[in-house]
Amino acid sequence: MFDNDENMLNNTEKKGIFKRFLLWLKMVSKSLRIRIGLVIIIIGIVIPLLTCLYLYGEIENSMIDMKMDRLLSQSNILKNNILKEGYLESRESEAINAELAQLSAMYDGRVLIIDSDFKIIKDTYVMDEGKNVISRNVILSFQGNNISIYRKNENYIEISLPIMNEKKKTIGVLYAEFSTNDIKYSMENIKKNMKMIVEFTSIVFIIFGIIISRLFVKPLKKVKESFEKINYGYVDFDKKIDSYTEMEDMFDSVNESLKRMKKIDDSRQEFVSNVSHELKTPMTSIKVLADSLAGQENVPAEIYKDFFEDITKEIDRENDIISNLLALVRTEKNNAVLNIAPTNINDMMEGILKIVRPIASQKNIELVLESFRPIEAEVDEMKLASAMTNLVENAVKYNVVDGWVRVTLNADHQYFYIKVADSGVGIPEDSIDLVFERFYRVDKDRARKSGGTGLGLAITKNIIVLHNGEIKVYSKEGEGTTFNVRIPLTYVSN
Ligand code: ADP
Repeated sequence: MFDNDENMLNNTEKKGIFKRFLLWLKMVSKSLRIRIGLVIIIIGIVIPLLTCLYLYGEIENSMIDMKMDRLLSQSNILKNNILKEGYLESRESEAINAELAQLSAMYDGRVLIIDSDFKIIKDTYVMDEGKNVISRNVILSFQGNNISIYRKNENYIEISLPIMNEKKKTIGVLYAEFSTNDIKYSMENIKKNMKMIVEFTSIVFIIFGIIISRLFVKPLKKVKESFEKINYGYVDFDKKIDSYTEMEDMFDSVNESLKRMKKIDDSRQEFVSNVSHELKTPMTSIKVLADSLAGQENVPAEIYKDFFEDITKEIDRENDIISNLLALVRTEKNNAVLNIAPTNINDMMEGILKIVRPIASQKNIELVLESFRPIEAEVDEMKLASAMTNLVENAVKYNVVDGWVRVTLNADHQYFYIKVADSGVGIPEDSIDLVFERFYRVDKDRARKSGGTGLGLAITKNIIVLHNGEIKVYSKEGEGTTFNVRIPLTYVSN
């Protein structure tokens, strides 16, 4: 019972260790450094090993082939001499005996001469003379076959040659076995040397693999350190890293997106602080007005009225800012809901001018609409009309007495164009790029007095962008301003 418990405990422990080992292996195998190192080491071991194995086989084969060739030619010479000397009949020849002895001594072998009765008439080992042979190869040779076989496991070469007379009749067989121990010893020596080479190259490649993988991964570590610095808030976007070109490119593009994110973050913060400031200003004015009224006693009714009028103005302003902010939010790309319908742009613009005309006439401003052709386009009429009203109102607002405002409508097969030009105060060159920014006003005091919140052009631009259009501004201080709007006739949602 207890034994079983202990076994189970051991098993779960073993499983835990095994699991941890697998996890470790998975982690390690994901490391680029380990992978590069392993590849170099494996190549460094496998290639020399395979080369040595191949060479070993080739050397052994060619040594055997050479020995076999030599033995065959020697045996053939001997066979011919046996025939010439009539050794099979006489069974006596000093010369042949000497040759036989020499052959077997030189090549460490045993040579047998067998007559047509399968009887051994000569054995260089003397042991089997007079005995009969009925080995398969000898019989094959009696049938006229030359046989030469390398018996690898038994370590010898077997040769069996038919001795034929002039009539091509086999009258005997020369049978020999030669030891291949010399080749075996040579091969063992070669094996030893090759083993040393493989061991040496393996060690060299292991060291090489470790060094190379370290060097290879080093620049990547630099990238990691740089990213860590960014994480800790140390941001230097223009910093370059010294690494691989691909890594440098990657680092640059990450930096670019971080820069963009920072810009968005900065502008969001700026927007929040601008909103707070803009909302606070009328509140402060209201508080000052109310406090001063409260601090006085027996205030005449007209003063009360004046103060309350001022307070109402500030409340209206606060309202304007809030409704403009809401309009801005509603026209942001992510929040906007468009109500697209075919709209007569000429009628829309005429309606806008009708509304603005009374304000224009206060400053004796000439307000003209020039239409080159009837235009029907797919737009959200409410939103686009508010955007265009803002442009025309601005053209009147920032105009001089007796000035003019000219609205021109045109279209081609793809777009319609609205141009709002005025003879007003113009926009200074350094402000031109900023007029579409939220809360931007060229002259803060003037704009405030004229009721501007600085959000009008930001909303206008948002609406035009929602219609996949474009707005451009050209202006010269003291001469006037022109806004050019271009919007596709057909709406394509994207
Ligand atoms: P605002 O509510 O202050 O008019 P806008 O976003 O509509 O805000 O305009 C931003 C600023 O651009 C204005 O404060 C003004 O200085 C400048 N501006 C806009 N339109 C014109 C124009 N037609 N002529 C001169 N300045 C202009």
